[in-house]
Amino acid sequence: MQENVLFDRITLVTPGADGQVTVRQEAWIAVKDGRIACVAPDRTSAEGALEGTDYVLYPGRDRLLLPTFANTHNHMAMSLLRNAADDLALHNWLFDVIFPREEKLDYGLVATGSRLALAEMIRSGTGASADMYFYHEAAIEAALEAGFRLNFSVDAKRPDPSGAAVPDERILSEQIRRWRSEPLLRVSLLVHSVYLYPQAVYPQLAAMAAGQGCTVQIHVAETAREVRECLQQYGRRPAAQLARFGFFQTPTLAAHCVHLDDEERAILARPSVYVAHCPASNLKLGSGMADIVALQEAGATVVLGTDGPASNNNLDMYHDMRLASLLGKGLHRAAALLPAATMLKMATQDGCAALGYADSGLIAAGWQADLQVVRTDSPGFNPPANPVNALLYSAAAADVESLMVAGQWLMYKRALQTLDEEKTRFEAEQAAARLAP
Ligand SMILES: [Zn+2]
Repeated sequence: MQENVLFDRITLVTPGADGQVTVRQEAWIAVKDGRIACVAPDRTSAEGALEGTDYVLYPGRDRLLLPTFANTHNHMAMSLLRNAADDLALHNWLFDVIFPREEKLDYGLVATGSRLALAEMIRSGTGASADMYFYHEAAIEAALEAGFRLNFSVDAKRPDPSGAAVPDERILSEQIRRWRSEPLLRVSLLVHSVYLYPQAVYPQLAAMAAGQGCTVQIHVAETAREVRECLQQYGRRPAAQLARFGFFQTPTLAAHCVHLDDEERAILARPSVYVAHCPASNLKLGSGMADIVALQEAGATVVLGTDGPASNNNLDMYHDMRLASLLGKGLHRAAALLPAATMLKMATQDGCAALGYADSGLIAAGWQADLQVVRTDSPGFNPPANPVNALLYSAAAADVESLMVAGQWLMYKRALQTLDEEKTRFEAEQAAARLAP
């Protein structure tokens, strides 16, 4: 349920329309009918925006208010496979451990795993996520139940009489039509990677995305092995070959992009292509380190993702945001690179744009009330001398106190409001046991 709220003298941290991140101390912020009604320096102006309606007063002492994070690459229900297989390279992890377990998945298991992932994301400041997985309608059911923004991807293929998977545009168009009026949802076309389908399928999927004007979610150049095998099969590197197939003409969430050359960085610098950088997953699977500074210098827009919870092993955007900054500094031996303001904008405003939520990701009148409240009085956060820097270098997921999406509390003073956390955890443990060999 949406609630009108007045944040009372809170420290506001937000990207602005000019791309800069600003801090305003002792701000009064009014939320009405799911949107930011006003950001004011005094109570009278803020209350004026609420026009005598009922509202909840939220004390802002020792609190920061910032936009919710957008997780741009995820496989939510892989939460059920979390901690099932670690210390393996991507190929062995995927083909030997993950794929055999995924054969046992069904709609109910995916809904359960998605709920667990949503509970974790809400607790760690995230209000919107991409998702690429089986039984996408189970993920939708969980996201709508949670009141969470989800850009889900549709596997628009069906088996032909011989059992081969063939693209069918009607599967995608039907999903676009079905969910068009649901403001929390966005639809993408699922294209797993350049290495999983027969060659003939790719140009058909690229044409389908162009025909429907649909975002594509895809893994690109995650490992050196992927690049080597793509060169052997096609004579081109993954991003270059995907461009040749016709991809990157419509909005694209290109996950990983670890192993690129200059030509591929130029391809990924196209408008509406977003590189979803997943540093923890890339490091944990031993895939390497994406050079996001080089990508930015080439003109690409980089956003952040956790990847699935089985390869990270969490969905904590604070963790990946900090890792992304530290890795960039270390790779280039330059402490000034990827500062806190850049990282916060990447995790909020740019991430929301990447997921297709154009009016979310910053705090100003008229924008969506997608907000997180962060406590600054924990020992690890204190003193928050520079709040922007503190959010990147000191904050932990546990410092997130409350979170709302479109004016609805999903967590209020550390208690989840829309999901039954205990039930979710219990069901997830049972589900994980069913998937085990
Ligand atoms: Zn992935």
